[in-house]
Amino acid sequence: MNRNKREKEYYSIDVGDSTFMVLKRYQNLRPIGSGAQGIVCSAYDHNLERNVAIKKLSRPFQNQTHAKRAYRELVLMKCVNHKNIIGLLNVFTPQKTLEEFQDVYIVMELMDANLCQVIQMELDHERLSYLLYQMLCGIKHLHSAGIIHRDLKPSNIVVKSDCTLKILDFGLARTAATGLLMTPYVVTRYYRAPEVILGMGYQANVDVWSVGCIMAEMVRGSVLFPGTDHIDQWNKVIEQLGTPSQEFLMKLNQSVRTYVENRPRYAGYSFEKLFPDVLFPADSEHNKLKASQARDLLSKMLVIDASKRISVDEALQHPYINVWYDPTEVEAPPPAITDKQLDEREHTVEEWKELIYKEVLDWEERTKNGVIRGQPASIGKWRFLTTPHTILNEVNCSHNTAT
Ligand code: AMP
Repeated sequence: MNRNKREKEYYSIDVGDSTFMVLKRYQNLRPIGSGAQGIVCSAYDHNLERNVAIKKLSRPFQNQTHAKRAYRELVLMKCVNHKNIIGLLNVFTPQKTLEEFQDVYIVMELMDANLCQVIQMELDHERLSYLLYQMLCGIKHLHSAGIIHRDLKPSNIVVKSDCTLKILDFGLARTAATGLLMTPYVVTRYYRAPEVILGMGYQANVDVWSVGCIMAEMVRGSVLFPGTDHIDQWNKVIEQLGTPSQEFLMKLNQSVRTYVENRPRYAGYSFEKLFPDVLFPADSEHNKLKASQARDLLSKMLVIDASKRISVDEALQHPYINVWYDPTEVEAPPPAITDKQLDEREHTVEEWKELIYKEVLDWEERTKNGVIRGQPASIGKWRFLTTPHTILNEVNCSHNTAT
């Protein structure tokens, strides 16, 4: 495409502290959130005739951390197609050459709110279990492609008012170091599993811990393990769940074990104490049964020792969750990841710049005939609920800016 034509396709608009330079098909931009990578806006897409979300990644190649995350996200978003993972609609850059290349814009399906807002609401068992079921379906799908998230949190999970849910990101690269001995960057660690906090080896059920923390927060209305830093994070876990067994301590490396062994010893509390009846709707025999199932599920997910923690498949089969089981959602064919070295890549800033630029061009090339990889429209499952009119109607478009 010639330079002039390309220039005419874009316009610039200020949103908050940032300037978005977007294709003219996207109008009516409004800020809806911000994360570690930048600002997210809602917009109306005149081509698709629907509202979308646009995330601006400013100079994503500026350092190793940003570049790896942006590249990984672009590659994975292009490959993954599941109703519980956010769908990619478009990728573009307004810059015309590699030399000028600065910013990437990622266009996604627009959802109504992130889970931080839903946590404030009083959810009945039907909604709570359906939201958890969808989280587990999304996670299982990522696992089937070899992607273990390790950093699920409410700000990275979005929902619509019809109670459909999607995971926004792909978590930590396999090579990302996270342990107690790492520099404490300002990130939310409340939902990270003990094996992540303690820098141990991990398996797929590392993500079940995070789901347990999120479920606990939805039940309690407040963060379960609100550590002020990565050391305090561990304190909060053992204060409530109790000091883990000797068998677990033997799995730690020497320096971490010394630290953990020198903490005060805690007996912890029973799950009846941690999640008493008053926290659940238990006004009928059915709700009482559901409350005991919910508590049982929590007690199986929030287990410090991963070898004794429930797996994603077991969680999907748990009586609190399996009422929603649909093989087309749970057992969707795994996505094929094109870049096999995705997590191992180490590059200079200039190399990252080129790699990310190529990913954007590749998308433009693949979609230039107007073909976009569509997502199956979600058929609102609420149709089958006992109270079909009940939606998360308190969730409107009042996005917050939690990270
Ligand atoms: P992120 O930069 O991906 O961490 O997103 C930051 C925040 O922007 C999220 O916590 C959401 O509140 C909001 N957000 C991001 N993507 C979307 C989307 N596709 N639909 C609705 N809200 C979104």
